[in-house]
Order: sequence, then C-alpha cells, then structure tokens
Amino acid sequence: METQTRTLIEQDRNHVWHHLSQHSVLKNQDPLVMVKGEGSRIWDAKGNSYLDASSGGVWCVNVGYGRTEIADAVRDQIAKLNFFASTAGTQPVAEFSEKLLEKMPGLSRVYYASSGSEANEKAFKIVRQISQQKYGGKKHKILYRERDYHGSTIGALSATGQEERRQHYGPFASGFVEFPHCCEYRSQFGDVTDYGVLAAKELEKVILREGPDTVGAVIFEPITAGGGVITPPDGYWPAVMDICKKYNVLIHIDEVVCGMGRTGEWFGYQHYGIKPDLVTLAKGVASSYAAISCLVTTEAIFEEFLSEGEDREVYFRDVSTYAGCTAGPAAALANLEILERENLVENSAKIGEYLLEKFHGLAEKHHIIGDVRGKGLLLGIELVSDRALKTPVVEAVTVKIAGACMKKGLIIGRTNRSFKYLNNTLCFCPVLTLTKTEADFIVDTLDAVLTEFTEL
Ligand code: PMP
Repeated sequence: METQTRTLIEQDRNHVWHHLSQHSVLKNQDPLVMVKGEGSRIWDAKGNSYLDASSGGVWCVNVGYGRTEIADAVRDQIAKLNFFASTAGTQPVAEFSEKLLEKMPGLSRVYYASSGSEANEKAFKIVRQISQQKYGGKKHKILYRERDYHGSTIGALSATGQEERRQHYGPFASGFVEFPHCCEYRSQFGDVTDYGVLAAKELEKVILREGPDTVGAVIFEPITAGGGVITPPDGYWPAVMDICKKYNVLIHIDEVVCGMGRTGEWFGYQHYGIKPDLVTLAKGVASSYAAISCLVTTEAIFEEFLSEGEDREVYFRDVSTYAGCTAGPAAALANLEILERENLVENSAKIGEYLLEKFHGLAEKHHIIGDVRGKGLLLGIELVSDRALKTPVVEAVTVKIAGACMKKGLIIGRTNRSFKYLNNTLCFCPVLTLTKTEADFIVDTLDAVLTEFTEL
C-alpha cells in the first residue's frame, strides 16, 4: 500500500471518532476512508470502488457525486459573499426560496438551518410559541410515531420513536408523546382489510387520552425511512388528516429523507395528498454538497409571528449562526436546477419501480425475504428467519449481508435492531441518477449474496 494511503488510514484510526461506530473492531481491520466520488460510485483510500446504494451512507447525495457545477456555484458565491446572518437576506437565499416554494403549493415561507435535527427543533419551538401565544401554553404537546426518526439532538430524539436510538440518552424533553406505528407487515390488528384506518385511529386514541386541547402538533415521516422503510397503508392519510383537522392539531411532515425527489415525487407528502402546516427538509436540499436545512411553513403559521404597534413583542426568537452561510443556498439552487434539468424525480419514480419489481422477484426465490417496501429510490427489504411466523433475523445477519455486499462492491444500508420488533431491514437509497444497468448490479449482487448466505 502506498505510504500516503497508509498515513491517511493511520491518521483516521488514531484520531477520528466515527459516528454510530464501534471502534474496537478497528483493532483488527482498517477504517474505511473515502476519497473520491463520481456519479453513483465512490472510492476508498485503498482504491476500492463501490456502487453506493446508500447515497453517502445516510441517504443524502441525491444528484450523485462529482458535480462540479455545484462546486463552481459554491466557490463563486463564497468568493462574492460567504456569510451574513439570517437576520437579513442574501441573494442565494432569496432565489432558492422562491424556486423551492414553486414545488410546494400551499406553503409560503422558508426558515433556514443547517441540519435535519435543527430544522425539526425549530418547528417544535414554533409549535410551543403558538401554544403560548394562542392557548395559554396548554396546547404544547407534540405527538410522534413509533419507528419514526427525527434527529440526534435531545429535542429531536425526544420526538423519535426508536427505542434503540434513545436508550442511553434520557431523560428527554417533556411534552413529547408517542403513538403506534403503521407498518402493515407488523400489523397490531392481525390480518384486517382496513388496516390504514385502524392505524390512524391509534393516533386519535392518543390525542383523546392526552386531551385534544393539550396537543399542538403531530410529526410524521411521510414514509418512515431509517425505522424500516415503512410506507403508509391505504386509507391511513385521509383518516389522519381528518383527525388532525377535528382536533385542531398541526401536521408537521419531516421530509429530511423523503424530500427532493427521493421517493419519486418532489416531496413524500405529495404522494398522499397531505396538506402539511410545517415541512422540514435537509439531506437532499443541496445533495449534501453543503450543510443546509429548511423549515417550510404556511402563511397562516408565519402570520402568528407578526405583530404591529410599539413593542412588536411577538416574533420568532430563534437564530442559528450557520444558517447565514451562503454555501448552502448556492449549492441548493444548483442542486435544484440539476434535479429539474435531468428529470431526476421522474427517474427516481421509474427506476424505483423497476427495482421494487426486481426485489419482489428476489422474494420469490429467497425465503429470508419477509417483506419488500418503499417508493421511488427509497426501498427496504425486511429479513425473516421464518416467513410464516415473520420471525425477524438477528442483527448479525443483516450485518453479514451488508458486509458481503460491500466485498462485492455494493454499499447498502440496514436498520438497527429494534427492541420491540427486531425488524431488521436492508435499505436501498441510491443516487437519483441510477441507471437500469446500475439497478441490475444492485439486484444481481444481492441475489448472489443471499444465495451464498442461505447456502452456508
Ligand atoms: N429526520 C429524518 C427523517 C432523518 O432521517 C434524519 C437523519 N437521518 C434527521 C431527521 C436528522 O437529520 P440530521 O442528521 O441532519 O440532523
């Protein structure tokens, strides 16, 4: 191995603390250090190349790697003006906001931040302030769904329905209340024809238990991503919208993963006719060429923060320094232009459907596949050791399968083991430029790995 590569690997091993990682394994193996990306492919320091079906490990490089057009836009912008606090506007922020809102009819204001967790925190603060201004602080509770993830900060984790992520970090912020998931494969009601409506009623039960006058908002992922790629069942969303309207509860849609074409529509909520009050975006906003997140709201919410007269007491008392970095909106603008010009949202829908069909084909052949789910290029395969009983495989199995794919040049994702459901799911979230040939490589590699695995 070249000295420079060895040095890089040792620098990483000795000094870097990787996220979500058990570093003791690096005593016996080299850390993975990525050095280059192009399209859907990524190269590590040792020169190995992979088809990245995880869009950067955490599902965010929507337009693919190596976009010099975005790099140029960022360089030009930061040479001209790198920063001014979001207490004022900047050119790329104004331009990007207008373009983004064209894709989101019914919404009219964009508030900026730099991560998904942070955007969600800001939405929670908006709900809390509205509660104080209009309801004497009573309508402050925020409901979140089991299996949904909303971020790593204490507030966002307090709104996260994944026990495995929360276990070490309590106590949590108060006023966040969980309601049951809507994964039909893991139906709480057995085999029923109206699962979607029954699952939505679980939300209503929690609203009634807590008291509708105490519930300010509900946060949902339109399609649960990291919690196992859970698509909502038929009938779920119309029922949820009726319930939220009935009890005057705001709908907050977390589009951090699903947004920007990931699921074959510009935004995940647009598949289901949802009319959100608050939408949060990150990851795909600038395909992670720069750190940027957005909180998008209706004019009605924005108007809650307007006040006239002498004191002008009422406004949103929130600020984040890095929301004023112009690299983010400059990258986001170039990213949006690429998504439009190359019809990547349509490609996500088309290739996603192709992959889904192929995965269903694999399910006929491999009994370890219990369920295949997803939309566009957000797909999941849930693995079971007994199909009839739906017994989830142990986590070591998905670890081995993802590891074997990597050895064959394919990076895929997997969910963490959940304490309640143990629903280990392989996740596929490739770049939106994915071609049919690349999709075939994903399917063929997985087919080979599952064949080797079940024959062992
Ligand atoms: N919401 C969802 C649905 C996510 O998947 C994530 C990140 N995986 C977040 C929020 C948090 O985003 P970030 O890591 O940028 O804080």
